[in-house]
Amino acid sequence: MTLKRFESIITTDRQLREHQTNGLKWTVAHAYNGSPEYRAKLDRAGVAPENIQSLDDLKKLPFTTAADLRDGYPFPLRAVPFEKIVRIHSSSGTTGKRKNLCYTQKDVEDWCHFFARAYEMAGVTPEDRVQIAVGYGVWTAGIGFQLGCEKVGAMALPIGPGNVDMQCQFLLDLQPTVLCCTASMGLLMAEEVNRRGIGDKIRIKKIIYGSERASISMRKKISELFGGAELFDITGLTELYGPGTGIECPDHDCIHYWADYYIMEIVNPDTLETVPDGEWGEMVVTTLCKEAVPLIRYRTRDITRIIPGSCTCGTIMPRHSRIRGRTDDMFKFRAVNIYPSTIDAIVSGIPALGSEYQIHLSRDASERGMMRLVVERAKDIGEERNEELSKELVHQVKKKVLITPVAEIVPYGSLPRSERKSKRVFDTRIEDPIV
Ligand code: ZN
Repeated sequence: MTLKRFESIITTDRQLREHQTNGLKWTVAHAYNGSPEYRAKLDRAGVAPENIQSLDDLKKLPFTTAADLRDGYPFPLRAVPFEKIVRIHSSSGTTGKRKNLCYTQKDVEDWCHFFARAYEMAGVTPEDRVQIAVGYGVWTAGIGFQLGCEKVGAMALPIGPGNVDMQCQFLLDLQPTVLCCTASMGLLMAEEVNRRGIGDKIRIKKIIYGSERASISMRKKISELFGGAELFDITGLTELYGPGTGIECPDHDCIHYWADYYIMEIVNPDTLETVPDGEWGEMVVTTLCKEAVPLIRYRTRDITRIIPGSCTCGTIMPRHSRIRGRTDDMFKFRAVNIYPSTIDAIVSGIPALGSEYQIHLSRDASERGMMRLVVERAKDIGEERNEELSKELVHQVKKKVLITPVAEIVPYGSLPRSERKSKRVFDTRIEDPIV
């Protein structure tokens, strides 16, 4: 088998384990020596870099969590001097404080390299023109998709999200062959192409979508409306460089992830014990060469499982299932990460509303995502204020999370109470099985 340009030089499982062992040893020593936060964590756990000699020693290491990133704000877990940092990216956090992540030049280049590999796995070549309809800015999406695209040698059309008229104009005039977007944006574009009757005048062959889950029916609809385009689910998270840390292969049997850049463990989120391959649990990642902010057993909160055995596509890189959900209640809506705690804070900020609320996520007949907030009035507040309260709630949510929900105000005491943690999020957007 001939290697593609960005494929790993590692070709056997033994080589991969050796590479991971070296990367793990390097990462622990680097984190220990470079970051006072990591040093304190490792000291508390009674682990010194010399205790890490094999992959089995991974289990000796303490977990890292989003709380560590929040506590170290504004430059959490930084393991290199500031003069080595060339870029900052940021994503939303649980309590309003952003997760800021630092990158060295090498981190940026490594990310670019494996993002190019992701494109290559989807069959993107220098012949392709890639319309990048994801967000640009402080988050990792836009620039990641763009640098990877340019590295492959394809033509990048960095249009950003939204702006459907311009998207369609580009599809027609510049004849892109690949569209990068969220699943919702993919669906929106597919319907727009259909509505405008321009399907036979455009050339989209592949759609690379990330940042949110898509049901099988949704994928099918997007593909059909784009004249049979092939869909590739791309994964990633800001803490772990950004998007591109794994992608669906042309055999479309789950996600291959780049085990030469990070180790993936699946743990039971309650006991934190590693589960056997094939079982569902929380994805935990340890980086092998990340400099500015190395990750040691970082709990991603994403639920998935390792797929045992090798894939029919012949790649040695291991596989995991598509992400099934989260261990916290965070949900993604139109590519925005939303924590129930944020909605909680908004509801609490409106005195005439009670403390009980529910978040219902669904898809309408045209598969468009809908968010409905059901909130109780406070005690002794009358029904005549429903309209005013509903308007205020929508306004606040729109202002704080940039999403327009449908609000429903209900009488005090009408939502179920629970002694345990009340269920807040009801997500019926995906009803078919996630593989
Ligand atoms: Zn494969």
